[in-house]
Amino acid sequence: MPRIPEAAARIADEALVAGEWRRGAGAPARTVDPATGRELATVHAVTVEEVAEAAEAAARAAADPHWRGLLPHQRARLLHRIAALIDDDAEHLAALQTADTGKALTETRALVASAAGTFRYTAAALETAEEALTPSRGDYVTMSVYEPIGVVGAINPWNSPVASDAQKLAPALAGGNAVLLKPAEWTPLVSLALGRLIGRALDELGLPAALLSVLPGRGGIVGDAIVRHPRVGKVTFTGGTATGRTLAHAAADKLMPVSLELGGKSPTIVRADADVEQALAGVMFGVFSSSGQSCVAGSRLFVARELYAEFVGELVERVAKLRVGPGTDPGTQVAPLVHHQHRDAVARYVDLAREEGARVLCGGAAPEGPSYADGAYYLPTVLDGLPNSSRTCQEEIFGPVLVALPFDDEDDLVRQADSSVYGLACGIWTRDHRAAWRIARRVEAGTVWINTYKQFSISTPFGGMKDSGLGREKGRDGIRSYQRQKSLYWGTADTPLPWAE
Ligand code: NAD
Repeated sequence: MPRIPEAAARIADEALVAGEWRRGAGAPARTVDPATGRELATVHAVTVEEVAEAAEAAARAAADPHWRGLLPHQRARLLHRIAALIDDDAEHLAALQTADTGKALTETRALVASAAGTFRYTAAALETAEEALTPSRGDYVTMSVYEPIGVVGAINPWNSPVASDAQKLAPALAGGNAVLLKPAEWTPLVSLALGRLIGRALDELGLPAALLSVLPGRGGIVGDAIVRHPRVGKVTFTGGTATGRTLAHAAADKLMPVSLELGGKSPTIVRADADVEQALAGVMFGVFSSSGQSCVAGSRLFVARELYAEFVGELVERVAKLRVGPGTDPGTQVAPLVHHQHRDAVARYVDLAREEGARVLCGGAAPEGPSYADGAYYLPTVLDGLPNSSRTCQEEIFGPVLVALPFDDEDDLVRQADSSVYGLACGIWTRDHRAAWRIARRVEAGTVWINTYKQFSISTPFGGMKDSGLGREKGRDGIRSYQRQKSLYWGTADTPLPWAE
């Protein structure tokens, strides 16, 4: 296993612009290991002019017959090759992502494996996707076919870059497009490393190098330039709801499709008939894995009133024992947050909860001791005593903070669960399969987990309702959202159209 310093020694800090690796001509930004506060690299942002250069080159690459002329099974070869290169470099990518995001190595290894799996699944979906011969209603054959959009902008947040990059790059390339990828300011390193691997695969297969550009920099500058560039025909975005709304406005001006994977404040429901051991483990994993920095974090816990005191009491005892430490320690369960600034933002939310009248049942502070002094750590925190209407219960904190609430009956539960602008995910813990079915169908959430939580499959569509997003990623149809549908009518009559007679 490469240790973090070795991973850091192999850091690629250059941008990939129009098929060329170079230092961006924009402002430098330090990326920091949040476990230690030490600098990992200085990555220079690209400029708006470099975005335009990348977009023009991407449009030429997308139209290049060496790419545009490939049949689906031939394009699939690229995705298989990328998957193999990710597998070969898996330990390095995992160590790099742990260094850049702070996440536990156990988790970043799983994310890297899922990224390779995403490319493989998408290759298989691409080779087996069918176009339709629609029922004819005249002297013609009717067909519905799919074509590339051209240039796709892919903009990602900092929490799981290798997985979210793969979820956008695989279907966008499978769809026959070129991609401009913008990583988040705090975590550009894995996307740049992935760019190196994809660049190698393109080179090996003799494909245009400008099919992928990796463009680090500020969202309001580089991201905005990608979204507004006239060559960009679709933007696929994962990030906060406010940013997503800004992008949707820009996309509306261009009449450009946009897919938005946004924030959440997901309810986890424990009914009185739940298997308590399973529910305890699932609730803790659902919110405290990734230190709560997950869009689907089950951050609002609803427990049946008759079980509430017993369940929350036991939960707090176990949460207080969770192991907080660096992501490189195999025993760590709660790793540092992505950045010291983000840790401070989470701490301010807990201060707000106190002002709103919350009881802090455990956590509520950074851990003490010399080994935590320089890192962006925060203790897993459980709060209660707040109404669902409080800001603490309504706003996404994106950290290791769980707020617990009791519920009286199913109507009260569903009303509270749905009293949120978000609708990303929901967890239900119960032994009653009929109740599980009823609640799962009533609650407004893009994904519902029953007696499990935070499990993902590339074969199953993912996305949000309400302010949690627009559109779906993953699944067999994922590729189609990166294509344009075209209808063909092919005349079969021997005689001219009757009107012309
Ligand atoms: P963010 O919205 O601040 O940034 C996301 C990306 O957008 C970054 O690359 C950023 O540079 C870019 N950006 C910012 N302003 C932009 C603009 N005006 N134009 C174009 N690009 C711009 O989000 P974040 O803080 O990096 O990530 C956390 C958020 O992401 C949370 O709200 C979380 O819920 C959400 N998220 C959602 C999912 C999902 O699948 N639904 C997954 C992970 C994270």
